[in-house]
Amino acid sequence: MKYVYFFGGKKAEGHGEMREVLGGKGAGLHEMTRIGLPVPAGFTISTEACDHFFQHEKKYPRGLESEVRKHLRRLEKVTGKTLGDPGDPLLVSVRSGSARSMPGMMETILNLGLNDRSVQGLTNKTGNERFAYDAYRRFVQMYSTVVIGLPKEDLEHRLRAMRQRYSAKQDTDVPAAGWKELVGEYQKFYRERTGKPFPQDPLEQLWGAIGAVFLSWMAEKAVTYRRVEKITGLLGTAVNVVQMVFGNKGESSGTGVCFTRDPSTGEKVFYGDFLINAQGEDVVAGIRTPMHLAEMRKHMPGLYKQIERVRVLLESHYREMQDIEFTVEEGKLYVLQTRGGKRTPAATFRIAVDMVKEGLIKRETAIQRIKAEDVERLFYPVVDPGIARTDLAKRKIASGINAVPGAAVGQAVFTAHEAEAMAAGGAKVILVRKETSPEDVGGMFVAQGVLTATGGKTSHAAVVARGWGKCCVVGCEQLDIDYASKKMSANGRVVNQGDWITLDGSDGVVYEGQVALAQPEFPPAYNTLMGWCDEIRRLGVRTNADTPHDARKAREMGAEGIGLCRTEHMFFKDFEQPERSAERQLAIQEMIVADSPEARHRALDRLLPFQRRDFAGIFEAMDGFPVTIRLIDPPLHEFVPHERDKQEELSQKIGVPVEVIARRVAQLHEANPMLGHRGCRLSITYPEILVMQVTAIIEAAIDCRKRGIKVLPEIMHPLTLDRKELRILEQETRRVADAIIAQAGVKLAYLVGTMIELPRAALLADQIAEVAEFFSFGTNDLTQTVMGLSRDDSGRFLPEYVDEKKAGIFPSDPFQTLDIPGVGMLMLWAIERGRAVRPKLKIGICGEHGGDAESVKFCHRAGMDYVSASPFRVPISRLAAAQAVIEEKQSGKPKKKGRNARAS
Ligand code: PEP
Ligand code: MG
Repeated sequence: MKYVYFFGGKKAEGHGEMREVLGGKGAGLHEMTRIGLPVPAGFTISTEACDHFFQHEKKYPRGLESEVRKHLRRLEKVTGKTLGDPGDPLLVSVRSGSARSMPGMMETILNLGLNDRSVQGLTNKTGNERFAYDAYRRFVQMYSTVVIGLPKEDLEHRLRAMRQRYSAKQDTDVPAAGWKELVGEYQKFYRERTGKPFPQDPLEQLWGAIGAVFLSWMAEKAVTYRRVEKITGLLGTAVNVVQMVFGNKGESSGTGVCFTRDPSTGEKVFYGDFLINAQGEDVVAGIRTPMHLAEMRKHMPGLYKQIERVRVLLESHYREMQDIEFTVEEGKLYVLQTRGGKRTPAATFRIAVDMVKEGLIKRETAIQRIKAEDVERLFYPVVDPGIARTDLAKRKIASGINAVPGAAVGQAVFTAHEAEAMAAGGAKVILVRKETSPEDVGGMFVAQGVLTATGGKTSHAAVVARGWGKCCVVGCEQLDIDYASKKMSANGRVVNQGDWITLDGSDGVVYEGQVALAQPEFPPAYNTLMGWCDEIRRLGVRTNADTPHDARKAREMGAEGIGLCRTEHMFFKDFEQPERSAERQLAIQEMIVADSPEARHRALDRLLPFQRRDFAGIFEAMDGFPVTIRLIDPPLHEFVPHERDKQEELSQKIGVPVEVIARRVAQLHEANPMLGHRGCRLSITYPEILVMQVTAIIEAAIDCRKRGIKVLPEIMHPLTLDRKELRILEQETRRVADAIIAQAGVKLAYLVGTMIELPRAALLADQIAEVAEFFSFGTNDLTQTVMGLSRDDSGRFLPEYVDEKKAGIFPSDPFQTLDIPGVGMLMLWAIERGRAVRPKLKIGICGEHGGDAESVKFCHRAGMDYVSASPFRVPISRLAAAQAVIEEKQSGKPKKKGRNARAS
């Protein structure tokens, strides 16, 4: 088996499609070499070697050693230099790189090949002792910490002390003697700690570095990142051994990171940072604040032209926005890396749409480049534009670089660990750091926003936060952060840990206290792209909405009707006239505690006008679209007070003795209310509730019809488990509805159907479909009843079931993403059985899964007519439904005839 792939001298053994084997970085280096870009030569050890390493107790595969030796010789031939040569040494970088980008999560070692002798060769060759020893101290430092695991801080305080001795403010002020001294100190420390001298044999160094890169694949931060980003199924990291080029050889050298388009807005402008006389990690670490490319264009036009050419070439080659790392060594440009650039959600939409317009990609590709999270993150808040500028100015603590837009409010916290602990306790936090490093990702993830004192737009904090669409301000240099006393200060203001602050990532400002936020407007590209989704998809997308307000919101989000209106939500709150909420509550409570049908009727009569008004509002909002209204579902005990004082209060209000109320509440008590007297069983026992609700629906529909509104009511019975049960309810529904319609002398079509939420209903779907005109899968209850897991309580142990590092039994939470093998199988059965009896049976889903991308794709494949999701998740469902069509096309599976007709 081949484990090592060479690139250099304009030829490469690998190519850009080999990400799985060469990792993203490796595949990019091979591909760039092939297309003639100036890439330093090197070789890539495959991810398969890493996989073998972890599968075999951290042993390298047989033959790897000789393959590496062979390719090293080849590299030496191409470069004309030898590793460790005391005359003119070849130096290499040893870098990680997996198939999916994990920025900063794994290890890198630079300047490998330096030792006490070859550093002299580098000095002689460059005539620059300062440079040679600076390179050597960086190598010793990285090797000691990354390969051997010595504490960073022990080395850094030696660096600080040396700088002080030489009164050097910055690294660039340190003379050769300083670096030389530091190398000596590092090596002494190394010997003290390990009992061995610092390795002088370059091959020993190389194998040490290769092992460290492999091991970093399983380091905690990398494992956490993969978990958070849901990255699974990769073999491991590749190792890239690449000839070193130096950005720190003086004023005509430098290093930079750039994006082919603006990663914040998506605008087609060249965008990035450049540091003169520096090595790559200086930009990423954000230690010095770099120069923007626009400035570089002014100061170094020739060089700018070279890098601009690379930008054009790479973007047209990959047809995707690229994040490029480059180094300039004495005026010569080298491209060190290219990869798909992380970007904000708004930029994701703009770039995808612009690239279609530019003819770079097809609409289908643009749609597939959008993730559900990108849609979700468009709805992140901004500082309320209504707040007066003067008010904001008063609150301003400091300003920095607007790395990731949006706004966030939270309590300041200065370490990632404390951020995690506070967030676990329910607090909203803003993580404040001088700069962030990969160790901080856990804290960054739970934070509402991230603030750093140093760094540019491509610093670690900016890149990681941008990937998550998380508000982030960097380079806020006025901040004086004191970790020891857990506070920061700027411009005379002090913020202690726990104090509230607000970040504005769009303007790059930090404010004192909690500033009001507002929802953002969509970027224009959002509407264009969602329009394309709507053209492609066949699955209808409805919404779960219980109020006219939510229904209107859902229409704005693109919903084509209501898939679930939970009527019981109307019993307790009047959303249009909140002051009348108490009246509704009393009516339903009186109905429940009533001990005679007459008393129940009286109470229900009071509820009727409220329900009628609610339904009319919803029909109006959904003019022309179907509205599925579900009759009462929860067990009645949920509506009556359990505490004695509340029962006494109710007793006084409705004139029923408190003992009667208490007795009634006790009667309603159930050991398993979720499996108890609920769902359509309530309408069987209390048909007067059904009568009231159906009356309200039909009267509201007639009223709307008369006002020229197009109404398509669908009356839905929940939790059905038997044909006879549903038949009784269906007949009663039609009796009531038809009488009202006849009396009104109008024509009104309506449907009667059921939710499929119980295994028995799914199993006997053919029988149920004899009665039901439509099915709507209530997958919240169906998941609960198929899996035997409580939807309310299983959160206590489910995380352990999902966590790969713990039990790892489920790939994801089944209440979030449909359990396709189990629940899904039952759904397929029910669809097939139901349609066998009633070919035109309309089928949808209204559990939470209707707003989950993976589940929506399953619904498409299953041939459903529509999904129904909460208003803010409607766009996710529209996107996923379009992606399902594209995936179907790509898999070559033909569309099922007569399905997903969008006839919802
Ligand atoms: C369901 O069970 O999936 C459903 C939509 O109903 P509810 O969540 O109201 O029980
Ligand atoms: Mg349910």
